[in-house]
Amino acid sequence: MSSMLKGIAASNGIAIAKAYRLVEPDLSIEKKEVADVDAEVNRFREALSTSKSELEAIREKAHEDLGADKAAIFDAHLLVLSDPELISPIEDNIKNEKVNAEAALKNTADMFVSMFEGMDNEYMRERAADIRDVTKRVLAHLLGVQISNPSMISEEVIIIAEDLTPSDTAQLNREFVKGFTTDIGGRTSHSAIMARSMEIPAVVGTKDVTSEIKNGDLVIVDGLNGEVHINPTPEVVEQYKKEHEQYEKQKQEWAKLVNEKTVSADGTHVELAANIGTPKDLEGVRNNGGEGIGLYRTEFLYMGRTELPSEDEQYEAYKAVLEGMGDKPVVVRTLDIGGDKELPYLDLPKEMNPFLGYRAIRLCLDEQSIFRTQLRALLRASSYGNLKIMFPMISNLNEFREAKSILEEEKSNLVEAGEQVSQSIELGIMVEIPSTAVMADVFAKEVDFFSIGTNDLIQYTMAADRMNEQVSYLYQPYNPAILRLVKMVIDAAHKEGKWAGMCGEMAGDEIAIPILLGLGLDEFSMSATSILKARSQIRNLNKSDMQALANEVLALDTNDSVMEAVKKVINS
Ligand code: PEP
Ligand code: MG
Repeated sequence: MSSMLKGIAASNGIAIAKAYRLVEPDLSIEKKEVADVDAEVNRFREALSTSKSELEAIREKAHEDLGADKAAIFDAHLLVLSDPELISPIEDNIKNEKVNAEAALKNTADMFVSMFEGMDNEYMRERAADIRDVTKRVLAHLLGVQISNPSMISEEVIIIAEDLTPSDTAQLNREFVKGFTTDIGGRTSHSAIMARSMEIPAVVGTKDVTSEIKNGDLVIVDGLNGEVHINPTPEVVEQYKKEHEQYEKQKQEWAKLVNEKTVSADGTHVELAANIGTPKDLEGVRNNGGEGIGLYRTEFLYMGRTELPSEDEQYEAYKAVLEGMGDKPVVVRTLDIGGDKELPYLDLPKEMNPFLGYRAIRLCLDEQSIFRTQLRALLRASSYGNLKIMFPMISNLNEFREAKSILEEEKSNLVEAGEQVSQSIELGIMVEIPSTAVMADVFAKEVDFFSIGTNDLIQYTMAADRMNEQVSYLYQPYNPAILRLVKMVIDAAHKEGKWAGMCGEMAGDEIAIPILLGLGLDEFSMSATSILKARSQIRNLNKSDMQALANEVLALDTNDSVMEAVKKVINS
């Protein structure tokens, strides 16, 4: 039976392929008495050996695709499976207690996990995570349930998941993963942002994809309209194939603008820059004609690993991006960890409200050695290009002043030590907290630029979690409250002769672009894959008309009325 689910269009494009469920299996067990303990031990050994062969295959694949570094994780897992200190107690438990293998495995593993987790030693705590991971695999084999191995996908699929963490998303193989769809999440959750930069069509926040879709179902992800079709009729498949072709043709039209400047119909130039997460994204920036990097989310350098990146490793990454962009501007944001971007190895306490908690600049000003290492790496790389640095989550002037003085301190230390450091690094802030937007006139006297982070600014202004599909109707980019804050920030910057950019997803939104152009935004930074479409749109807009439009919508009452007013203008 065919059916359709509605969700949030998170990444443009259309994908048609078979479903691959990336879902945590049900591993609940029942303790049972067994009569034949030898047979039970054998059953355990078989599950162990299947798990080993599976892990060996995954390790090989990881080695080929991701390098020795990532493959080493699976070496550690294989070691656990061969460790007599873990295996013998399980077998003894089966024999002595006459219990089933599932119960013996769980008992013993839980005991080791809690022992290692309680140790005051990071290495041992990581071993606890390894044991938990491999036990899951063996348990799944004992229970006969399927465990997903996304790195082993070798045919075209659409990933079906409850949620995808940014590091899950980073590991998706673009050759085979044609699209994804999730139960939860919003348009500005980081997995959605990454899907856009990887050009993988995605629909998030559908609420039910994991309960409605089975492995192997045929699925269409319509990332343009936010629809997921399950086992569609041949007519629907045909219609979507046509739409897909049309979209590809449209992209070819946009591609003709790759080397053009972004100039409005009446001659105003604005800069269209890209948001990136790693130096690997530079290729996409070039292919899409990015005029700079407006946001380098450095936290991805810290994710998907077991310890902090060293100063030299960071230096190499920053240098690669700066060199790769030549003399074009590169705005690097200092570490913005927290919210939906976790670093398990920092072992931070669980918080009730992570988006309002100990994160980003708050953590950096507290854990200064992490911050200083990053700043040194940035300063050392600064002579290789046109570097601008910005601090995330600034909520008050003291934070900016303190962060700036730490930067100055590191700079003079490096200069004293004879290092080459650029003397023209602009220093700015993200405006993503309402208090900072309201105080923009004061900040503008001290910063070199603003970059408006609407992904967070909207969630904090509307008090609507950007990850929560239940309140996504309140996540309103065009609400006049947001537009007024944006205007305040741009005007405040211009009054002090500074520039104002925007690096939230709103900067690439076709309804927002006309208003932002009218408000005088200088730099629009977005997923690289949105740049050419935005350029094509701006070339057809008159800035003077958009000024009138901006004035009109600022005086309107709701998100919807603004949307309608803009649509009327862009469709006329
Ligand atoms: C933002 O908040 O708008 C932003 C660009 O940062 P992030 O999405 O990484 O929070
Ligand atoms: Mg943010």
